[in-house]
Formats: sequence, C-alpha cells, structure tokens
Amino acid sequence: MATTSGLFIPGPTNVPERVRSAIDIPMEDQRAPDLPAFTLPLFRDLKRIFQTRDGQVFLFPSSGTGGWEAAMTNTLSPGDKVLAARFGQFSHLWVDLCQRQGLDVEVVDVDWGEGVPLDVFAEKLEADRGHEIKAVLVCQNETATGVTSDVAGVRQALDASGHPALLFVDGVSSIASIDFRMDDWGVDVAVSGSQKGFMLPAGLAILCVSPKALAAAETARSHRCYFDFADMIKTNAEGYFPYTPPLSLIRGLRVSVDMLLEEGLENVFARHNHVAEGVRRAVRAWGLELCAKEPKWHSDTVSAICLPDGYDSGELLRHAYYRYGISLGAGLSKVAGRVFRIGHLGDFNEILALSAIAGSEMALRDLGVPVEAGSGVAAAQEHYRLAKREAGVTRLAAAG
Ligand SMILES: *Cc1c(COP(=O)(O)O)cnc(C)c1O
Repeated sequence: MATTSGLFIPGPTNVPERVRSAIDIPMEDQRAPDLPAFTLPLFRDLKRIFQTRDGQVFLFPSSGTGGWEAAMTNTLSPGDKVLAARFGQFSHLWVDLCQRQGLDVEVVDVDWGEGVPLDVFAEKLEADRGHEIKAVLVCQNETATGVTSDVAGVRQALDASGHPALLFVDGVSSIASIDFRMDDWGVDVAVSGSQKGFMLPAGLAILCVSPKALAAAETARSHRCYFDFADMIKTNAEGYFPYTPPLSLIRGLRVSVDMLLEEGLENVFARHNHVAEGVRRAVRAWGLELCAKEPKWHSDTVSAICLPDGYDSGELLRHAYYRYGISLGAGLSKVAGRVFRIGHLGDFNEILALSAIAGSEMALRDLGVPVEAGSGVAAAQEHYRLAKREAGVTRLAAAG
C-alpha cells in the first residue's frame, strides 16, 4: 500500500502538526473542576468562526451526518414540511435523512453542477401563504460537484415574501473555509463537522443554532435523546457535557480555532479562493470542464472535474493512488466514473495544490486522456506567481 501524505480529497483533510500534538495527550477527567476554564472560552471563540453574536454552538460526538440529525430532530415535528434542493450526493443524503425522520420534504431537483435555484425558492415561498414550510434547507457547498450556493440570496427570498420558515445550512465543507455569516444571513441552524475546514479528524459535529431555532426546539415533537439540544445547553452552561465528550478532539479543536483566528477569517477565505483559482486554471489548461456549470457556482474548497467520454475516473483514482501515492476524490452516485475531485481546503496552500495538479496530470496522461504535459501545472504556477495577494505566503505544516 502507498503511504500517502498526498491527501487531496475534500475531507478528511490534512491535520496540522500543531493540532495533532494537541490531540495526542493523556486521558483526562471530564468532570475536572478546571475544565470549564477550557470549554467556556472555546464555545465563545467558536462563535467567531460562525460570525455570530447570538447563536449557540453545540459539539456532538458524531460526523456531519449526526449534525443534520440534531438539526432536524430538535427543531421540527414529524410531518412538518421542509423545502430543499437536490443537486449532488450530499444534498441528496440530507433530503434522505429528512424523509427517514418523517418530514414532508418538498424536493426541487436541479441539474448536478448547479446550486440552489433562488428563483424557484422565491416562488415557492411566495406561494406558501399558509406558511406550511417550516424550514428551508441550503447545502452551502455541494462537495460532490464543487458547487457553492448563495445563502444570503435564500435569506433575501425569505424576507421578500415575509416567510417565517427557519433557514438551515449544511456548511460541512464550507464553514471555516468559505465566508459564512450566521447573523448577517439570518441562519437558524448551521451544521459543520470536524474533518474538513476545521482540520481535525472526523468525530465532531459542530453546530450553531439561533435563538429562533432554540425557541422552536421547545415545542418540536421529533424524538431525540443523544442529540438533544436541551441536555447540552444545561450542562454546557457550566462548561461540561451530558455524556463523555471526546475531549482529545475538543483539545485539538481549541488549536484549530486558534490557527483560524490567528490567520484571520478574511485571510483564510482569501487563501482558499486563491488556491482554488489556480486549480481552476489548471483544469482549463488541460482542456477539461468543471462539473460546476457557471463561475457563480465555483467552489473554493473542492473542484469536481469531468473526464471526456470513454475514460473512467475510478480507474484514474486507483492509478493515481498506487502509482503516485495521492488520493483524489471519487465521482459519487450520478457522476460516478465521470468525475474526479481535488479537495483544496483546510490546511492547504499553493504548493500542495501544485502537487495535486502535477499528480493528477501525470495520472491523466498515463490513462491516455489528451492533456498536454505540464499544461495544468504551468497555468497554476503562473497564477500563484503573479496574482496579487494581500495575505502573503501562508506556511502550512500539512503533509508533514
Ligand atoms: C462531508 C459532508 C457531510 C457530512 O458527512 P459525514 O461523513 O457525516 O461527516 C455533509 N455535507 C457535506 C456538504 C459534506 O461535505
């Protein structure tokens, strides 16, 4: 097996050495008298990542999927109507979870490669005079297709029709990498996970919940126990948890939040945009197309790249893994075999992107895909060399 430090998938992402050493510590007492001195400031600083003053942050031991479950079961009742668009594997899975929770999902199917259709959402909200829609779901970054949707636009559609529905955002592959504004955009529940922008191993669902959604939780009748907001609120207020917390991960989270705030959120977002743009230029130089159909959908955390007809992206991934020791993202579900993905989020920079591009380029040529040798690498290099960047060089410790 290849030892791969070439982890170019959109999560789990590279864990910086600083975070890894924060996690690798002796076990500790989860009821220690000095634990609140650690947890309370962490909850406070996490709010800065969500750009919220009034929101409440929750940490559940789970992957992002558990975060969806916590969001739905705490705030809604069986049979409640929710509005969601489906345009990739993750928006599909969220809809599936809602349906299995007994919610009535009004699904808007959109071509894979596009995002939330603001006009359709606006029409549906306008037409819903009786306010039957209780929540609107937005997958901010569809990781399967590399498509980013306009959350602020959905908020505007809600406000324009005076609709009181809650606004839920899946920000698992966007929060802490792409701009996300809980308060400015009036988001009621934001769901994230530890293994993407937060640069940690999988194992934490990180949520932020508005006062309006917390109020809805008081009357919501869906069953919940492990993911109950109320149990968390009670114990978190004192700096503790209702059951054994994964404290090692939470110690790591302290460091990843420090790293994000030291770099500055604005700079983190600018870095992701800058690195992503180099990848997009490489794709163009190869003569290949992104799955995202228009620039307004381009994701700064993951690029999904279409192969020409007759080539299999599964074979490309296997070859890249065994021959060059790099992991690229697979095409999922509807785009299986046709798309491969380069993840460029978290502890990531220009030089890592160039490795991903160079490795992909060699693997593409080995498979006979007609891309010119060095074309993608050169296009990205020139972008990285010449683009004006206020943030300057970011020395990241990834892949150490
Ligand atoms: C990764 C991801 C999830 C959650 O997946 P888990 O494997 O449960 O962490 C949800 N939504 C999006 C957009 C994702 O990228």
